Amino acid sequence: MRATFLPYALPDIDETDLDGVREALESGWITTGPKVRQFEAAFAAAVGARYTIAVNSCTAAMHLSLEAVGVQRGDEVITTPYTFAATAEVVRYFDARPIFVDIEPHSFNLDPALIEQAVTERTRAILPVHVAGLPADLERIFSVARRHGLPVIDDAAHAFPARSQGQMIGSSGDLTCFSFYATKPIATGEGGMICTNNDRWAERCQVMSLHGISHDAWKRYSAEGSWYYEIVAPGYKYNLTDIAAAMGLAQLAKTERMWQRRAQIAARYTEAFGGVAELQVPHNRADCQHAWHLYMLRLNLARLRISRAQFIEEMKRRNIGCSVHFIPLHLHPYYRETYGYQPEDFPVSYREYQREVSLPIYSKMRDEDVQDVIDAVLEIVALNQR
Ligand SMILES: *Cc1c(COP(=O)(O)O)cnc(C)c1O
Repeated sequence: MRATFLPYALPDIDETDLDGVREALESGWITTGPKVRQFEAAFAAAVGARYTIAVNSCTAAMHLSLEAVGVQRGDEVITTPYTFAATAEVVRYFDARPIFVDIEPHSFNLDPALIEQAVTERTRAILPVHVAGLPADLERIFSVARRHGLPVIDDAAHAFPARSQGQMIGSSGDLTCFSFYATKPIATGEGGMICTNNDRWAERCQVMSLHGISHDAWKRYSAEGSWYYEIVAPGYKYNLTDIAAAMGLAQLAKTERMWQRRAQIAARYTEAFGGVAELQVPHNRADCQHAWHLYMLRLNLARLRISRAQFIEEMKRRNIGCSVHFIPLHLHPYYRETYGYQPEDFPVSYREYQREVSLPIYSKMRDEDVQDVIDAVLEIVALNQR
């Protein structure tokens, strides 16, 4: 057994991050400035988006995106219950309603076949999530969206770098929102990015990300700018700092290496668990590039004498951290009490949640760590077969 605890997630921080942050600090420009502009340009190039707006979280990115497409009180936004709190709470910020649509059992992603029947005259947007970094079926989602004149705002918190049918996630042209939270594939502590090809939405997100002011501070105070500004709407305080952007640039430069390593770990897990009847390995698609932000293993509970919670306890006893993605939103008190949901209202989400275990998958893991995870999982299964 391992002598030390293997954390569930760790960022990949090296000298390049430290150098970047040091440079930002020494420059004297520590809030939004040249590093942010550089990071936006580099990220736009990486995903193939015309416009990128750096913000301080993916939550902020989704809030601004919904604002830009004009979501208002009483409107509806179609999304998935199989996600993190942020995806639906941003809809509630407008006193609008998240309309949950169940997931596909194999992918954990929004089931495109169920979207059309959820569209009403109050629907204002569709908000899919690329769960674990496996792209949602954007082709079918866009086809429903276009039929009804709706924008697609994708929650790509897990999906960098990911590709769907040859297209980078972030290049859809509508609005894509990324997260640079501590555990995400690019980590800046806190951070996010909005990608779009629409100049009107880009302009609105930019303005609303900093107090609804028509010019940002670094232009105002630098030599090329002026002291004059105008407030065109009561905006938000969602701008990214140059300190975070400096780290983002360093992280971006090693994206390929970090992704290759995660893909390699995923392949080792799948090779080890693929033939085990008590386990179900994550789905992948040949026409996609999976970002492998999460490795979502599933337990075939009918073949085991332990629950998912006990399985995670057993992993912890073996010094390995695991997690669960996600506790579906309709099971949480707020959504249950506000909308009167029962667990079975989204039966696929409810069922898959009960047997999901996320294993550690990050580029800092050594080969021995990966082997320890494999050994622990196989041992727990062997000791608890029905
Ligand atoms: C992490 C996460 C978010 C929120 O990202 P922040 O940058 O922390 O706001 C949104 N959606 C999903 C699916 C996430 O996992």
